[in-house]
Order: sequence, then structure tokens, then C-alpha cells
Amino acid sequence: MELNLLTLCYLIGSLTFIIGLKMLAHPESARKGNLVAAVGMTIAIFGTIFLYQEDGQKLHNYGWIFGALLLGTVVGFIVAKKVQMTAMPEMVSLFNGMGGACAMLISIMEFKHITDHAFVWEGVSSLPGFMLIVGNINHLHMLIIVVGMVIGSVSFSGSMIAWGKLNGKVKDLNYNGQTYVNLALLLALVGLCSWYVYHTPISSSDVGGIGFTLTDGTIATHGLQPIQIYLFYGILVLALVYGVMFVLPIGGADMPVVISLLNSFTGMAAAFGGFLYGNQVMLTGGILVGAAGTLLTLLMCKAMNRSLQNVLLGAFGSAAKSGGGAKEQGNYKEISLSDAATVMAYANKVMIVPGYGLAVAQAQHTCHELEKTLEEKGVEVKYAIHPVAGRMPGHMNVLLAEADVSYDKLLEMEDANEEFKTADVVLILGANDVVNPAAKNDPASPIYGMPILEVENAKTIIVNKRSMKPGYAGIENDLFFAPKTSMLFGDAKAALQKLLAEIKNV
Ligand code: NDP
Repeated sequence: MELNLLTLCYLIGSLTFIIGLKMLAHPESARKGNLVAAVGMTIAIFGTIFLYQEDGQKLHNYGWIFGALLLGTVVGFIVAKKVQMTAMPEMVSLFNGMGGACAMLISIMEFKHITDHAFVWEGVSSLPGFMLIVGNINHLHMLIIVVGMVIGSVSFSGSMIAWGKLNGKVKDLNYNGQTYVNLALLLALVGLCSWYVYHTPISSSDVGGIGFTLTDGTIATHGLQPIQIYLFYGILVLALVYGVMFVLPIGGADMPVVISLLNSFTGMAAAFGGFLYGNQVMLTGGILVGAAGTLLTLLMCKAMNRSLQNVLLGAFGSAAKSGGGAKEQGNYKEISLSDAATVMAYANKVMIVPGYGLAVAQAQHTCHELEKTLEEKGVEVKYAIHPVAGRMPGHMNVLLAEADVSYDKLLEMEDANEEFKTADVVLILGANDVVNPAAKNDPASPIYGMPILEVENAKTIIVNKRSMKPGYAGIENDLFFAPKTSMLFGDAKAALQKLLAEIKNV
């Protein structure tokens, strides 16, 4: 009866994950989708704690379980409540790393569990030279443990580096031959794991023994040789090092791909945990995260015009160090608030390009007000959304949805690029890399090849940012010096508020 109830809990959990994920696909239903999946997860967790049985025994160490649950809930709640919208990607990276660490620890615990319980008894007097083995470590079991540990560890250490990079504490590291070092590390890791999984498992058939019951006087020794145990932990260290080495060189504009790849790694590692425990809900959850993360990675790669191979070898951003973009820029011109307001109020079509700076300034509500005011004056207003604008996938969509900007007004990159040709004004709000023409014109630039929003096709370009400082990729932007471009300096929120007041007076 209880087992059936547990299966039902897992079924509810799995279904809510699928429904929640579907709802996450649209900004209007995303919040509820998150909640639906969280309720399903809670049911699955409490179902496991109270209903799971092994050999007729329920879980018993409730003190530890609830202590850890309480601690995790309190810390998670406080961190999520306090986090600034702009620090959200860092938090996502940190939490993703924690998922990877969990998968890693599960594998370590299971390894310890099976090695502690699979004993080899040597020196049975009646059969000299024979070893008797009680307990089986088969190839599949070892494969799941090792692969789960490796993926979890790479995801953990890689996410920690990504977290450091996003908050600016960790700098890019590049040196000659880095790609080859990373490739060698990856090959060593794969080779060592394959060898280990093939050779380490032991079963009675491997050594010709059979399942005798122990007799007095036999000597019990450990099921795995010490070297096999050390090797397992060696693989763990290598995987952690690879995670660090793989993310360290990634710079410029390429972090989004890596973050979503690490996300999919964590999902896969959790799915291996589900295999290990024969736990359907963990398996479903892991597969969903792994599959969604993989799809997102491929979409991101397409958006950034990068191959997945480059991501895996950590070859991104190496061009950044070749000095791309470091050249004389000439002069830029500024525009006054009243001129900007006049140009916009008399335009037929204004396209807004939101970027990371808009999120920093929390100017999305003011931006929505500006849009409504312009529309009242008969101006058509649309938003051009670059897939990697901001600091996390879908950042701009979430930001604008929060301000109730209608989803129909948001144009994806290809559509926006068509639409710029008929726009009178493009207003760039805190965006930089996603409108940098170096991606098309400068082969030495670290962002060369990345598709960008082709704002230069519009008649007039107004750029709002606080200074001439570069964006995330750390490179100059020729667009700011183009004859069509005028700079409107200031914090996005303050500048938009003043602009709004001016437009109302036009
Ligand atoms: P950028 O980081 O290129 O540029 C943002 C600009 O906003 C800066 O130049 C800054 O200039 C300006 N800014 C900052 N604060 C304010 C403010 N308060 N008011 C007005 N302007 C402000 O952003 P983009 O959105 O154009 O591009 C995103 C970049 O981040 C890409 O390189 C992308 O690859 C990368 N990235 C994206 C991720 C994703 O998943 N979307 C994840 C990780 C990285 P100033 O200081 O002069 O004001």
C-alpha cells in the first residue's frame, strides 16, 4: 500500500516537472510553472522520506535529514530573497554547481557503500589460491557511479568558476597550447574512466569463486585493492581539475553557452543518480534538465555562431587576447534630452534594444512607460531581443515581462534585423556587445562570427549608457563612433525618466 503511494508521489512529481517545464516556456506562465514543479518536488521528497522502504526498513536518520533540509531551505530562501536581479545569473550558476556537487557526493557515497559491502575473502584452506566474493560490483553499476561522479564534478567545479567570472572575482586565463592541454585532460579523463569501469568490477565469476558462506578462520579483506580505491579518487580530482580548466579560458561573450552546458551536465549527473537508486522521479527530473539544457546549449551555440566542439575544448575567447578591437576610434557625438525626445516623438517607428545595463538600472518599468507614451503619440514601438543580451538566457524577456511589456512587441534577432530597415530611431538601452559591428567586420575580435542586432540599418541610433566603457566582452564598440549614432549618457532609469518627461512635453 505504502509502496503504491510512493509510486504515486513519484508519478505526480514527474508529471509536475513536465507541466512546469512546459509552462516555463512562456513568460506569462513561467512563474506558475516554477511553482507547480516545486510542489511536485516537495511531494517527491516527502514521499521518499516517509514512504521509502528497503528490506522492510524505512529511513530512520530523520534528525540528519530534517536538519539538512531546514538548513538548505533557510539558506536558499534568504539568498534568493536578497539577490539583486543583476546578480541572478551568478546565483543560478552557484545553485547549478550545488546540483553537480550533490551528484558527485551521491556517486562517492555509493562507491563507498559498494566497496564496503563487497568483500573478498582470501586464504580459504580447502581451496588454496581461490578468492570468494560476496557482493557484486558489476560493470553497469560501476559505469553509472563513475560517469555520474565525473559529470557532477565537472559541473560543480566549472559552475564555481563561472560564478566567479560572472561576479568578476575570477579572471580569464589564457596561455599558448591551452586547447591541447584541455583536450589532453579530457582524453585522459575519458580513457581512465573507461579503463577503470572495465577493470575494476569484481564478481564471483571473475575470479572463479562461488558464493560460499564464510567459515570460521577465513580472513576477510576489502573487495577492492587500495590502488583501485585511490584511482577512483584520482579520477574525481582529475574531473574537478578539468571543470576548472575548461571554464577558465572562456571569456568574451561566450559564457552563456557554457552556463547552459553546465546546466545540462548537472541534469545528466542527477539522472545517473536516478539510475543508481532506481528512482523514477530523480531520473525524470535529471533527464528533463539534461535535455532542456542540451537544447538550450545548441540554441545558444547557434545564436553565438559557435560550435559545441569549441565550447568543450575551451577555445572560446582566445582571440580576445590577440588585441581585437584595440584601435583608434575617433570622436563620438552626444545628443541632448530634448533633441532625443523630439526625434523619437516625431518618428514613425522606434525600436528599443534592451541590454544588461537596463537590468542593472532596473529601468524596465520606465521603459514600458516610455513605450506607452510614444504609442499615444502615434509612434510604433517594438523591442529587438538578442538571445544573449543580459547575463542569462532569456534575461531580457523576463525583465520586460516583469514590467508587463506585451510579448507580441518582442522581436527575435532575425525578425528585428529585418525590421531595423524601416525604423526611424533605434534606442539602445544599456546594450553593447550585442550591437557591436566588430562581430561582423573584425576577424581579430573575440566576438567575431557572433550574429548581432544590425541596428546600423535604422535611420538614427541613440545609445544610452553611463560612459564609453566596454561591455562584458571588454572590447570597444565602433557603433558608438558611427555618424548615425548619438550618445545619451546617464544611468538608464534616470535618463529614461527625464526622456519620458521631455517626450510628454513635445
Ligand atoms: P554588455 O555587457 O555588452 O553591455 C552592457 C552595457 O550596459 C555596458 O557597456 C555598460 O556601459 C552599460 N550599463 C551598465 N550599467 C548601466 C546603467 N545603470 N545604465 C545604463 N547603462 C548601463 O551587455 P549586452 O546585453 O549588450 O550583452 C551581453 C553580454 O553578456 C554578451 O557579451 C553576452 O555574451 C554576455 N553574457 C550573456 C549571458 C546570457 O546568458 N545572456 C551570460 C553571461 C554573459 P557603462 O558602464 O558605460 O554604463
